[in-house]
Amino acid sequence: MISIARCTNKLYYSDNSLFRVKAIVSKIGNDYVELDATVAYPEGGGQESDIGTLTLLDGNAIRFIHARKMYGQRANIPDFPDIQTGGVVEHVIHAEDVHHLATLTKGDEIQVSIDTLRRARLSLSHTASHLVYLGVGRIRPDAVAWTLGCHIRPDGARFDFAVNNRFTPEEVLAIEHIANDFVARGSAVHTYAHPNHVDARYWQCEDNVMPCGGTHIGSTAPIGRIRVRRKSMGSGKERLSCQFDNARFDTASFHDGRCHNTLAGILS
Ligand SMILES: [Zn+2]
Repeated sequence: MISIARCTNKLYYSDNSLFRVKAIVSKIGNDYVELDATVAYPEGGGQESDIGTLTLLDGNAIRFIHARKMYGQRANIPDFPDIQTGGVVEHVIHAEDVHHLATLTKGDEIQVSIDTLRRARLSLSHTASHLVYLGVGRIRPDAVAWTLGCHIRPDGARFDFAVNNRFTPEEVLAIEHIANDFVARGSAVHTYAHPNHVDARYWQCEDNVMPCGGTHIGSTAPIGRIRVRRKSMGSGKERLSCQFDNARFDTASFHDGRCHNTLAGILS
């Protein structure tokens, strides 16, 4: 495994609502830019990546269409069997904007900002998907034990399970009911880091705690009515998809961290 000394400060962990920050260019690839710090959530844990713009010193704004976490180190942390800690975030640049990379130099200060509506939708989807998963855990614990994965999109989420027993219509309704009860209670949602590993994070709602490094909203209330549907995937695989048609997306809470001083910023 390739290991590198550089590390991107993942500001989306400490503050889900930070949408813009200054950062230092630590590497320029053919079609990507690595930064010493970022507000852009890279694809991971089933959640799609943020997209956004990098504003250069000359005022040019270049679009990034994907963010990816690279060169993390395997860490054997109980509760987090597959986690990689550290590593860098690469911002993949839109093909039409790649030519601007020629004007960029390692060590330049740039501004990175994300599409806040997309982030708000992803954070809401992700939070809602936890509630559905809690419902699955109560109604079909056998399926939770055989979770294949999840896909969290701005407009919904889905889970796949490697089980032979179909989710019956009654089970799907019961799962939906449990998830919607969380919404009706308007419960607070908290996220926090493992005491010894900044990249290992937990999600908590009421007395339910799950390992999760994604982005979330602070309350279940804005999710609105959750609809859960079963989709037939052939034998041995079950899919539940979730939609949030009455969701309220809050972009007003996003704030600018322009004055955030990253470590490299202080040292340079
Ligand atoms: Zn999560």
